[in-house]
Amino acid sequence: MRLYTHPACLAHDPGEGHVETPARLRAVLRALDRDRFAALDRVEAPRATPEQLRRVHTAAHVERILGLAPAEGTVRLDEDTLMSPGSAEAALRAAGAAVAAVDAAMAGHGVRAFCAVRPPGHHATADRAMGFCLFNNVAVAAAHAIAAHGLRRVAIADFDVHHGNGTQAIFEREPRVLFVSSHQSPLYPGTGGEDERGVDNVVNAPLAPGEGSHAFRELWEGALLPRLHAFRPQLVLVSAGFDAHRDDPLADLRLNGEDYAWITARLVRLADAHADGRLVSTLEGGYDLAALAASAAAHVEALMG
Ligand SMILES: [Zn+2]
Repeated sequence: MRLYTHPACLAHDPGEGHVETPARLRAVLRALDRDRFAALDRVEAPRATPEQLRRVHTAAHVERILGLAPAEGTVRLDEDTLMSPGSAEAALRAAGAAVAAVDAAMAGHGVRAFCAVRPPGHHATADRAMGFCLFNNVAVAAAHAIAAHGLRRVAIADFDVHHGNGTQAIFEREPRVLFVSSHQSPLYPGTGGEDERGVDNVVNAPLAPGEGSHAFRELWEGALLPRLHAFRPQLVLVSAGFDAHRDDPLADLRLNGEDYAWITARLVRLADAHADGRLVSTLEGGYDLAALAASAAAHVEALMG
């Protein structure tokens, strides 16, 4: 089992008081530094190439993000998405981690991987940074699996509390990708209704504010996991956001660390059943530092099996 990260991901700083802070990744890495994670194969993430990014983003978007980082201070891309001097490098390493993890999974070494990276990715669309996201890391990974490895069925499971609107928009006309998401509704970014089905390759399962373990597990067990199994993915990608935790300040679901271990074990089983065990998970949200660290640790522990 591999752990991909890069120090550059700590140098993306949206500014004082922003919830998507470098302290998030520091908390995750500290939690994964304990003895029980000693067996993790730790790998420094390479940069994604412009070619890899352009599989899902417009050339104009890639150029803009790479050219926008200010020499000092921050530059604002939308209400809550900012770039600092280190942001372009962080975004390249975050997407590059997911690409490298796909290559490793396809090569058979350490078939499972967790990418402890930031900025997160699932809100970024083909031509727009939004919701703290610059490049769509999981989408870049899925497109790489198709283009570089010739896969015909790639599943993306997204359990972040927010809907992965960017991932959905990028793949809603691409039947080689199945995108499956549980998320709170109503909540930012406002997409993710059950009627949004793409070309029958998008499954959205909204949860109401206040719902917790029971509703979450019922949704995955009853609707989302059966769809994933029926798709018989050759690779399982995970948008692992931990902001559906009960302590998270940005949302109102009530999951706990055990729920993350539970869903992770089921996704591992999915990968074992169809994908020769190949599973690549990448960090999305999670804004209570203690809850994030504990949930990510539960996730990685379940990935290690
Ligand atoms: Zn989120």
